[in-house]
Amino acid sequence: MRIIVSALTTEVHGDGEKVTGLSYTDRTTDQLVHLPLEGIFVQIGLVPNSEWLKDSLALSPRGEIEVDAKGATNVPGVFAAGDVTTVPYKQIIIAMGEGSKAALSAFDHLIRLPVAADQALAA
Ligand SMILES: Cc1cc2nc3c(=O)[nH]c(=O)nc-3n(C[C@H](O)[C@H](O)[C@H](O)COP(=O)(O)OP(=O)(O)OC[C@H]3O[C@@H](n4cnc5c(N)ncnc54)[C@H](O)[C@@H]3O)c2cc1C
Repeated sequence: MRIIVSALTTEVHGDGEKVTGLSYTDRTTDQLVHLPLEGIFVQIGLVPNSEWLKDSLALSPRGEIEVDAKGATNVPGVFAAGDVTTVPYKQIIIAMGEGSKAALSAFDHLIRLPVAADQALAA
């Protein structure tokens, strides 16, 4: 096994039926390299799409939304779940569980809010 670092993938090549290789630019030398391959496993998605939240919620240096064990963010009443948060291990089953937890936490938050007098009378 050869580990290639500082590679910017630019193109995946195929023969119409299967992958035959990929091209990448070596970021350190700017050299374009073509690598013949029989298959590719893509691992992407490690950079959260959270730029738009940076002025609203506390984010980690990686841009993940910081949550506590209940999925609560630094803003009361705002909960987050899944890959975009600081929860370790970005996997489907974890994101699903975290989503359920955040929803329960939101419910728990709402039922503790004081009820306005007119709402209490209407109930
Ligand atoms: C290539 C690849 C392979 C993977 N293989 C596996 C695997 O084999 N097993 C496994 O358990 N996990 C795997 N994962 C991880 C798994 O996909 C994630 O853990 C899971 O999808 C996280 O769920 P999520 O709901 O947190 O985020 P996502 O599934 O990423 O959902 C986030 C959603 O929010 C949307 N969105 C983003 N920004 C905004 C916005 N501003 N407004 C509104 N919507 C927005 C996105 O379009 C997306 O639909 C893989 C991931 C990748 C990328």
